[in-house]
Amino acid sequence: MPRIGKGRELKAALESYWDGRIPAAELQRVASDLRHQHLTSAATTGVDVLPCNDFSLYDHVLDTCVLVGAIPERFMRLEMSSLERYFAMARGSGEVRPLAMTKWFDTNYHYLIPEISPDTQFKLCAEKPLSDFREALSWGFCARPVLLGPVSFLLLAKPDRPSGRPLDALERLLAVYEQLLGVLEAAGARALQIDEPFLATDMDDVQMAAVEWSWARLASAAPAVDLTLATYFGGVGENLERVLRLPASEFHLDLVRAPEQLEAATAALAPAARLSLGVIDARNVWADDLQATMRLVEPALVRLGHDRVRLAPSCSLLHVPYSLAHERRMDRDLRSWLAFGEEKLGELQTLKEALAAAPTRWREVLDANREVLQARGTSRRVHDPDVAARLASLGNVDIACRSSYATRAQAQAQRLSLPDLPTTTIGSFPQTQEIRAARREWTDGTLDPQEYEHTLEEEIRTTIARQERLGLDVLVHGEAERNDMVAYFAEQLRGFAVTEHGWVQSYGSRCVKPPILFGDVSRRHPVSIRWWRFAQGLTNRPVKAMLTGPVTMLVWSFVRDDQPRELTARQLALAIGEEALDLERAGAAIIQIDEAALREGLPLRRAAQPDYLRWAVDCFRLVCARLQDSTQVHAHMCYSQFDEIIEHILRMDADVLSIEASRSDMRLLQAFADAAYPNQLGPGVYDVHSLRQPSAHEIEALLARAERHIPRERLWVNPDCGLKTRTWEQVLPALEHLVTAAKRRRASTDGT
Ligand code: GLN
Ligand code: ZN
Repeated sequence: MPRIGKGRELKAALESYWDGRIPAAELQRVASDLRHQHLTSAATTGVDVLPCNDFSLYDHVLDTCVLVGAIPERFMRLEMSSLERYFAMARGSGEVRPLAMTKWFDTNYHYLIPEISPDTQFKLCAEKPLSDFREALSWGFCARPVLLGPVSFLLLAKPDRPSGRPLDALERLLAVYEQLLGVLEAAGARALQIDEPFLATDMDDVQMAAVEWSWARLASAAPAVDLTLATYFGGVGENLERVLRLPASEFHLDLVRAPEQLEAATAALAPAARLSLGVIDARNVWADDLQATMRLVEPALVRLGHDRVRLAPSCSLLHVPYSLAHERRMDRDLRSWLAFGEEKLGELQTLKEALAAAPTRWREVLDANREVLQARGTSRRVHDPDVAARLASLGNVDIACRSSYATRAQAQAQRLSLPDLPTTTIGSFPQTQEIRAARREWTDGTLDPQEYEHTLEEEIRTTIARQERLGLDVLVHGEAERNDMVAYFAEQLRGFAVTEHGWVQSYGSRCVKPPILFGDVSRRHPVSIRWWRFAQGLTNRPVKAMLTGPVTMLVWSFVRDDQPRELTARQLALAIGEEALDLERAGAAIIQIDEAALREGLPLRRAAQPDYLRWAVDCFRLVCARLQDSTQVHAHMCYSQFDEIIEHILRMDADVLSIEASRSDMRLLQAFADAAYPNQLGPGVYDVHSLRQPSAHEIEALLARAERHIPRERLWVNPDCGLKTRTWEQVLPALEHLVTAAKRRRASTDGT
């Protein structure tokens, strides 16, 4: 179940504990209550096999680090309780830096990256799975502990040096897993689930052999325990037969992402083994087509018999919101099309009973489900003929219709006359308590809209004045009106709905509330023009306008499943492109398109990546396609791994690209130099995620280094990302140093 709790109880408890407002015992009590709720709600819905150890106070990969004793030396030296040490690994402590964090496969959940070296002394600390199991027993549930498998755990780790091979530690790690299985068995566990999500990625032969070896060891360590191997986030592909030969009693397959596995799996399954069919989409929010699922499942039932088949969500329910029950404002139609965590468990129950009993008994439920799906399929809110017509009239020419970069650059230089090394920011300025409070009151209806607009105008006035005083060359309005870069646009576009409580854990206590993209997308009215125009009216310097890119809108939303994502992305590109045109007409000389999620949308399998990159880049080009040469397009992407996708970045052909670079010390610019990147580049010189203030001297050094890769005439000076999570006290001195460094650099003649 989503571990954050239906009312985000875990978030509140964690943050209170970190602030010292509640003791550890109180945090543990909240956590235990959540586990109790999850188990009882699943049991009452009719779930037969209940999981435990799926809960985590912060992250299940971090839990696994503690479980196997992979605690780096710098944390062992800290004198604190084990709970405090756990949070120190997640969040840092004083000078001690935390484990790094990155995305969990292709989800929006972030895990902490284990640090494994040849010196790591693995040592079992089974306290958490044991106490979770015993706690469930005390409530009357003999639950099945869920463990992250040893091979995936190691593959998630960061090698301690570039040549490091994480699987070298497997042998030592397996000894700990063997002990663990013994301990759980002794405590009364009769079954275990071991997750190896890496099986849904491109596994090479060495990695597959590691999985085989680890399963041979695990199975013989606990011969009496019923072991389930869980795979998810895709199919196991060409490794299917090898996987099914592993000594597990049950194999869980993701049949939402890879339904084609079922037939082959049914045929290849060993006589005593079971299949767990991941048929309910746990990565999205749509009500299941129950009859289609029954048709998918039935042949397997016939062939294997009911006792060798289990029904399950495709993966953990961590990635969907808790329950629709808490959405009070959602209209009835939309609600009927959706299923969140609890509703998905209900769907499983319906499927189970409908498949077991004579389907006639279930006629009513199944008919109602079919009607809902028909309504969704034919709704005018979903299918808008205007959008279809506009897309059809576009054709493919549109993505290629801007002049060459050289021509555009000339027109833009004339229009903007900026100095070398122009300075700018990425868009947002600090979201102060006052802005957040005003927005809350405005949403609750206690602040009238005019008052709210006035607050925003005042904020923009201050933000512009401060940027002028700092001497920045290209200003921004500061994005005070945006709660979130995706939700803000989603709230105003047709085809999107936003929820009240649809929270999904992003990392630790942080949650996001992804909008639901349910229908054809189009603009009701211009979205950003008003604020841009107000800001530009306050200054003679150019104010850069900010738009969220189509791919980021797509990747950070729950997206409709009734048409290809490519088509949905094109609709988004069309709508955002219209917004860009309106901005141009209003006089904007510079428009930035944020594609913060373009890289994270990459499919897990290499074979699927080129196609994704093709349409993702096409969509970006579509947004800018009709802009004049003299309108400068910036793209912003806040990450630093471009090596593998550089050819696609070139094809985006943004006039200026701003990226994250300060943490990599400008080394990533080599990839741009190697590819002879011809356009302008703004490598971030101020790491906005760090609390450290960079000095002017440091920034100057970074710029000098950047100039070794990209000539000064094509370089911009900007932070790594937006500043909304910082305070003005942090931002002002840092930007002052940034402007000073740019000026000093302009005046210098060395190193170019
Ligand atoms: N323009 C956005 C901002 O500054 C970009 C955010 C992002 O890239 N994540 O906040
Ligand atoms: Zn960014």
